[in-house]
Amino acid sequence: MAFTLPPLPYAYDALEPHYDAQTVEIHHTKHHQTYTDKLNDAVVAAGVQDKAVEDILADLDSIAESKRGAVRNHGGGYWNHTFFWESMAPNPNGEAKGPSGALADAIKQKFGSVDQFKEGFSAKAAAHFGSGWAWLVVNGSGELEITDTHDQVCPLSLGHKPLLTIDVWEHAYYLKFKNVRPNWISTWWNIVNWKEVENRFGK
Ligand code: MN
Repeated sequence: MAFTLPPLPYAYDALEPHYDAQTVEIHHTKHHQTYTDKLNDAVVAAGVQDKAVEDILADLDSIAESKRGAVRNHGGGYWNHTFFWESMAPNPNGEAKGPSGALADAIKQKFGSVDQFKEGFSAKAAAHFGSGWAWLVVNGSGELEITDTHDQVCPLSLGHKPLLTIDVWEHAYYLKFKNVRPNWISTWWNIVNWKEVENRFGK
């Protein structure tokens, strides 16, 4: 079964005014589509086209070295973007929101407060050199951790359970935010889908 581009869980303009419709549409129909198409080529070349993408990414070492880079890049590009879209939800009024329940408790225990967590996550995302992603994960020791990955490396390949991510490739924000990545990051907090992050944490 070939991989197909997952539809967005909302309309292209649904994240306005925080994330503009033009960027979201290009990001989904061009960038994410291209990763999807190239993943299909890469898994056939590597002989893993019958496996789930999560299983492929969690076991990259089993893929022949000459085929591994393409699977890492396009498999990560495919999965990371799907996870990114599901990490956001419409919030036109931009009222302050945050985590609740067990996730909020765990964040406070690990980072001191939700605000301190957001500061640390934003700093990691802003300081990331070049293209990549910032993540909140449950690491291999079962602890919350703020981390970043380069290019399309997926945390599933590093033994992490991802909870939240922001795309800091320039294609994710350049049309509206130009070179000012910190403005993209601070605006993005308005559209974080905390309910989904809580669901992921509960699993
Ligand atoms: Mn992207």
